[in-house]
Amino acid sequence: VVQQLGPRPDGSIPFSVEFNPPRDAAGEARLWRAAREFERLHPAFVSMTYGAGGSTRDRTIRVTGQLARETTLLTVAHLTAVDHSVAELRSIVGAYADSGIRNLLVLRGDPPGDVLGDWVKHPEGVEYAEDLVRMVRDLGDFHVGVASFPQGHPRSDNLDDDTRYLVAKLRAGAEYSITQMFFDPEHYLRLRDRAIACDPVEGAKPIIPELMPITSLRTVERAVELCGRPLPARVMERLHRAAGDGPEENRAAVREVGIEIATEIAERLIAEGAPCLHFITLNFAKATGEVLANLGYTMSPAPAHA
Ligand code: FAD
Repeated sequence: VVQQLGPRPDGSIPFSVEFNPPRDAAGEARLWRAAREFERLHPAFVSMTYGAGGSTRDRTIRVTGQLARETTLLTVAHLTAVDHSVAELRSIVGAYADSGIRNLLVLRGDPPGDVLGDWVKHPEGVEYAEDLVRMVRDLGDFHVGVASFPQGHPRSDNLDDDTRYLVAKLRAGAEYSITQMFFDPEHYLRLRDRAIACDPVEGAKPIIPELMPITSLRTVERAVELCGRPLPARVMERLHRAAGDGPEENRAAVREVGIEIATEIAERLIAEGAPCLHFITLNFAKATGEVLANLGYTMSPAPAHA
């Protein structure tokens, strides 16, 4: 992944996208449509999240492997420690390696169904993402990324400790981090400053900002759920103004403002030298595609068979 980061020869900066494991056949078809669309925009990489349920986990490993084998997309598999013994974690990494996946985003994960529920370590598992980074690095030639939190992890007592934990993951062998999504670029910039102040070498490793285009008030709920924090008041005001006072939200207007907000955040991050823009897509290509189009990214022509 790190080799893909930073300005490209034409001066543009790369982007990347996050997919979620599909729940059923229809979801799988949607994921493939999005993957094929994004292929034409040449992302630096795509990443696939890793969830909690058993059958979903099997599907995740299968679909992530297929993405790596059957597309041109550099595929990053998320790996979490929730409910897994070290032996299971090793075998998942082995399954990914069999599909040619050498890039892993290593996370602790959250207790199923509750981002802030009590974390219970598997009796034969690992306690922190840092331990999992070491485990994966010991298994062989894997490139590891980790999570970072512009506003601090919701469980962290303070931002300084939070930064130290990030730096510990980088010292353990992670090469970069991807942030939790945010809607105020200042939070990203402050995280970057804190990381470098904490460790000028490890803390200078790339921090990839994560963005999510809001397309409806329902996606706001999803965003809050994912980042465990409310959106900034001024962002909410713009979205609510667009939604209007009627019984039904003005979806077209909310979507337009949501794309506008994501574009503005992206422009600021580009100006501030972010190494890449990572988009949460919820397996849809359209909204992210519109933000990218606003930023001047262009698609290759569709292949003849499409
Ligand atoms: P850790 O780095 O282990 O941190 C967990 C908590 O422990 C934090 O509060 C941290 O501050 C604290 N901590 C860390 N080290 C120490 C220490 N040595 N001593 C004391 N406290 C410590 N979740 C999923 O389930 N699946 C996914 O695919 C997924 N993808 C994600 C992608 C991104 C980009 C991000 C930002 C998050 C993602 N998450 C995912 C959510 C993530 O798993 C949760 O936020 C989780 O609670 C923290 O994971 P972590 O890897 O940061 O854990």
